Amino acid sequence: MSNEQIILEAKHLTKRYFGLVAVNDLNFQVKKGRIHALIGPNGAGKTTTVNMITGDDPQTEGEVLFCGQPISKLPIYSRAQLGIGRTFQNIKLFSTMTVMENLMMGAQSKTNQNILTWMINIKKANAEEKMLKKKAEEILNFIGMYKYKDEIVSNLAYGRQKVCELGRALMTTPQLILLDEPAAGLNPSERREFVDILRKVYDSGIDLFLIEHNMDVVMNLSHRITVLNFGCKIAEGTPEEIQHDPQVVKAYLGDRFRTEE
Ligand code: ATP
Repeated sequence: MSNEQIILEAKHLTKRYFGLVAVNDLNFQVKKGRIHALIGPNGAGKTTTVNMITGDDPQTEGEVLFCGQPISKLPIYSRAQLGIGRTFQNIKLFSTMTVMENLMMGAQSKTNQNILTWMINIKKANAEEKMLKKKAEEILNFIGMYKYKDEIVSNLAYGRQKVCELGRALMTTPQLILLDEPAAGLNPSERREFVDILRKVYDSGIDLFLIEHNMDVVMNLSHRITVLNFGCKIAEGTPEEIQHDPQVVKAYLGDRFRTEE
């Protein structure tokens, strides 16, 4: 039996929206220390799957396990506290706030600070804020965004906003980050830069689970790929296996990605 640890597991995960089955009896495992991608055509159920993992959307049936622990009944913030971070298909930042402020907001799910504790113990709250600021500065340095720390987010180029969102996800000290189309909307140089940052994040010991349509990004970054079509898993394997899977080529890859034979 393999002694590789499973960080994330979907068991019979199903989502029905009235008559529509968006995700149908989905089973997969994400091993620790791997970059795992979920791919498939538009409407295949990828974002719905991520939303069920984070708790943004409750599953109709089935369950999600994180490090072996069932999490399907936990609220979003508890899942974040356990170590699940995420970024969104459409960037969700506070666009009128600075980069630094956005990162500090991102740590909210991990801090003990709320209005009551703040009123009771201003000293403790201030110490915590100082600590968060230091952590945000370290992360901004790590992702190459320190010089933008006082910039208002809406003034940044789209690629920088995406890096900022990743920085915010890092503020919760995640073990696993779920990335919904990280390369979407990026120009080729922004994309290369983002992939380099993702590699750096992964090398630092954080696992990545990504939804992505850009096959260069998927095939170069991922160790393992799960393919969805109409809510059902149609294939799973290494990038090499997936590129040559006739069912995947027919349903999704088509001409968009060809290996040099
Ligand atoms: P894309 O690559 O275009 O982002 P996806 O694979 O992420 O697609 P989902 O967004 O998960 O696909 O959608 C799967 C199916 O579920 C689609 O048919 C979509 O219209 C439907 N769907 C998603 N969210 C809802 C909702 N809140 N209510 C009803 N139907 C929904």
